[in-house]
Amino acid sequence: MINQFVDFLFPRFCASCEHQLIEAENVLCTYCIHNLAIYPEELQKSAFESTFYGRVNYKFAKTLFYFQKGTSAQQLIHNLKYRGQKYIGNFVGQWMAQLLLSQKASYDFDCIVPVPLHPQRMRQRGYNQIAGFGQVISEKLNLNYVDDVLYRQSNSASQVFKNRLARIEMIEGGFYLKNIEKLANKHVVLVDDLITTGSTIESCYLALNRIKNLKLSILTICLAR
Ligand SMILES: [Zn+2]
Repeated sequence: MINQFVDFLFPRFCASCEHQLIEAENVLCTYCIHNLAIYPEELQKSAFESTFYGRVNYKFAKTLFYFQKGTSAQQLIHNLKYRGQKYIGNFVGQWMAQLLLSQKASYDFDCIVPVPLHPQRMRQRGYNQIAGFGQVISEKLNLNYVDDVLYRQSNSASQVFKNRLARIEMIEGGFYLKNIEKLANKHVVLVDDLITTGSTIESCYLALNRIKNLKLSILTICLAR
């Protein structure tokens, strides 16, 4: 009764379809939960292997949702990325953390590293949409959250600099490193919101792979294959 009154005064809306939530619903409406396209556990291993075969050497990879047009997962990512709904990142981060904890697998992760945004996009958007997802997982699994090692070069910089170093960085998709000692000998979990061709993760891997004795795992909200 009190909750109904609170919902009346402060209506809550579905993070995907934006219809008003009823009392028993939280973050997502019942329709959208059923329409999410949760990625079946038994299909994930081969999907990641075929995405990264011969390109990225990783220990473990996991996704929450299968990305397909028209699914609630697509709308969820859209709202997280373009509509400032940062709480979606926390919500899916808790979901992922609970799955990892419930599977009781000791993945010996050391730290979470978010795929960085282009500096220009960071300025426009004001936040990296993957930060909430990564931070919640790092809190729940008691891992360090490290966002000051892997950086993305701005588009203009990669066009302006023509020296040898800049060319090497462009080959690697415009990522570069600072403070590399922080990740030496660590099992790093790279987090992203959506993996399609895998080329962004591959570029991050090529940069991170310069760090001594680094192991890599991958967590994503959506996988599109
Ligand atoms: Zn909904």
